[in-house]
Amino acid sequence: ACLDRTAAVDGVVHSYLHVDAEGALAAARAIDERRAAGESLPTLAGVPIAVKDVMTTKGLPTTCGSKILEGWIPPYDSTVVTRLKAAGMPILGKTNLDEFAMGSSTEHSAYGPSRNPWDLDRIPGGSGGGSSSVIASFQAPLATGTDTGGSIRQPAAVTGTVGTKPTYGGVSRYGLVALASSLDQAGPCARTVLDTALLHEVMAGHDPMDSTSIDAPVPAVVEAARRADVSGMKIGIIRELTGDGFQAGVQQRFDEAVQHLVDAGAEVVEVSCPSFTYALAAYYLILPSEASSNLAKFDAMRYGMRVAPQGIDDPSAEQVMAATRDAGFGDEVKRRIILGTYALSSGYYDAYYGSAQKVRRLIADDFTRSFEAADVLVSPTAPTTAFAFGDKIDDPMAMYLNDIATIPANLAGVPGMSLPSGLAPEDGLPVGFQILAPAMQDQRLYAVGAALE
Ligand code: GLN
Repeated sequence: ACLDRTAAVDGVVHSYLHVDAEGALAAARAIDERRAAGESLPTLAGVPIAVKDVMTTKGLPTTCGSKILEGWIPPYDSTVVTRLKAAGMPILGKTNLDEFAMGSSTEHSAYGPSRNPWDLDRIPGGSGGGSSSVIASFQAPLATGTDTGGSIRQPAAVTGTVGTKPTYGGVSRYGLVALASSLDQAGPCARTVLDTALLHEVMAGHDPMDSTSIDAPVPAVVEAARRADVSGMKIGIIRELTGDGFQAGVQQRFDEAVQHLVDAGAEVVEVSCPSFTYALAAYYLILPSEASSNLAKFDAMRYGMRVAPQGIDDPSAEQVMAATRDAGFGDEVKRRIILGTYALSSGYYDAYYGSAQKVRRLIADDFTRSFEAADVLVSPTAPTTAFAFGDKIDDPMAMYLNDIATIPANLAGVPGMSLPSGLAPEDGLPVGFQILAPAMQDQRLYAVGAALE
């Protein structure tokens, strides 16, 4: 049914960069046979899933939305994919994203954008707009995402779906092509909070292949989603992430959701996180710095594309590298490599990268203080509903500003979820409600999220 739906709609929605119909059907049949033989199978066995194209899949193309990796077929599975397979989940294909997960709209994909099923002239969010639109257009019930600065939560918000960024270290990064290693976290995307929890438990858990993987039991997210209990819980509204700068209908749906939580027995408090004002500035120094280093491995020697420089008879390795990176990377990737290289260069390192790291600490301190007053913090996920294609593509600052509410969680490593809170009255488009919890308390996201459904 999923593959039929893809055949019918993906020519327009363009959620997928690659569909593996044969592989998915073979995996589904194998599960059917095991079930018929009386084997007891994991909960999600036989439930198909789409995988963001930034996670390696053995034998299936992995492009990261970039020309530089066109045609690359990884020889190994990322840990997330290994876990999906062990859970018996057929993999439908690889979903579209902004190149190397840099962006908030999928307009930076080298293979063209994905569309928002609610309004085809609008963005499905980014970078994981392939994963959000594949779910919102009913091509798949579940998808994986990665969230370095909101790439799971913001796409969920603008497509009326659910997505979680787990605690940093909760899900293995092994085989996830790195954007910014200290911020990257893979997580689940789905249509309901319980579905998201079920996938979360499949993806999460300690992995010796990732040195930042947390060696502790996975938070009991499924149980929390089933109980949906917020009685006596303290919900903290982040003063700096409400009001000014948020679309009226977004703010209205947010206020209504908070009222639902009060009706369900929660208590509301206001918290202040003054350093969040600087989160965007810190993030857009730290991320490009780490990205410029991570992307150095695309050197035309080891992976993917290799371009011969024009008009040079006997080019040096450096000349091949320069020509390849020039042809293989898009504008946004180049912009960030230049920014990051600059911020890390001697003489500027302390002023830029060093200052940004100090702000990062202040943001973590804001969270620590706020979580003394509240069990979870809440805000709208994004300041607006889905914007139109072309709206922000020529103005990087405008695009970056869309991440204002999602970025603090990545800088501090705490978990966050976005779930639908109705449609904005002025444009009829989905609004996202964001929940944030202390590190390792991911189950609280699900308790609150499920109480809102
Ligand atoms: N909008 C963010 C950025 O462009 C998204 C990053 C991410 O989470 N992959 O950096």
